[in-house]
Amino acid sequence: MQRITALKEIAFQRHSFDGFAVFNWANLLYFSGFPGASALLVPRDGECTIYVYGVNYEQAKTEGKSFSVELVRRDENFMAKIAEKAVDCGVKRLAVDALGVESRRSLARATRGRVKLTFKGGLVAELRKIKDPAEIELMKKAAELTNLGMKTAYEVLSPGMREFEVAAEIEYAMRKRGSGGTAFDTAVSSGSRSAFPHGGCTDREIREGDLVVVDFGAVYKDYRCDMTRTLVAGKPMEKQKRIYGVVKRAQEAAFDAAKAGVKARDVDGTARRIIEDAGFGEFFVHGLGHGVGLEVHEPPVLNAVSKDTLAVGNVVTVEPGVYLPGFGGVRIEDTVLVGKDGAEKLTKAPYSLALNDV
Ligand code: ZN
Ligand code: ZN
Repeated sequence: MQRITALKEIAFQRHSFDGFAVFNWANLLYFSGFPGASALLVPRDGECTIYVYGVNYEQAKTEGKSFSVELVRRDENFMAKIAEKAVDCGVKRLAVDALGVESRRSLARATRGRVKLTFKGGLVAELRKIKDPAEIELMKKAAELTNLGMKTAYEVLSPGMREFEVAAEIEYAMRKRGSGGTAFDTAVSSGSRSAFPHGGCTDREIREGDLVVVDFGAVYKDYRCDMTRTLVAGKPMEKQKRIYGVVKRAQEAAFDAAKAGVKARDVDGTARRIIEDAGFGEFFVHGLGHGVGLEVHEPPVLNAVSKDTLAVGNVVTVEPGVYLPGFGGVRIEDTVLVGKDGAEKLTKAPYSLALNDV
């Protein structure tokens, strides 16, 4: 209920709403603690209500104990149900986190002018950006499982293996130790395919001397993690070593720069400057990083146009990369917890370009 209290403070005191409706799945999970809720209505005066369809009703009653649970029948107008409840609770100014165009129209129609609707997606994001101690514990567990996955990648990766085989070994190792699936589709991109930042994995056979970008994350109790290492199966060549050295320096400098009170765009700038000075600026084709939590990409964002300022409790990635079309790419990524004087790495795996040196 601490999270609901924080939401009430931000929505009803800092902003002058008197009701908040949550529809986004991750926001629902954040407040309710279980998957399967379709909506949550938080009125200033009155009880918080979770709306669920029949398939999730029993689970909601068991796991959503601190809320009143309302069953939505398939033949009912879901939005009308929420609008009536809001009116009953005396809500006049309702903030909504996220809704598709159709549902927006339907909710607006159902209020029949009795409730003023405002869409405020960023409001819950403000809360979710700062992880509480319980969330940090779960994220550390997700990171431990991810570390184990990377250890497995180092052990199994060898010339002759196909990309998807490496991905399967990583995922199996994490799953066996308790990962709730994967944080996103595991990427094992080798050779010239490593130059695609979102290369995924294919049936390509890894060859001796290929750059291999390995990017994946575990999930622990709905919290995600994200880590990348780049390896060469065999003896790295000079150009590969040079690029790796630049990306490594950029990642270290950005990690050192990441602390509370620093503008996210300045942390991005720290890494970008190093890569630009080395002559690879145009090949660093994405932002430095992103927040991680219930979603693998969530606020704050670390790029050149970010308006975020880092704060204690942010969990973000630091992931510079250089991608040379036709040649290959290098990315190094850690998930880090931002603190007052600096950040702490949650993902821990050796940094080594040559697989044999790991
Ligand atoms: Zn990643
Ligand atoms: Zn990432």
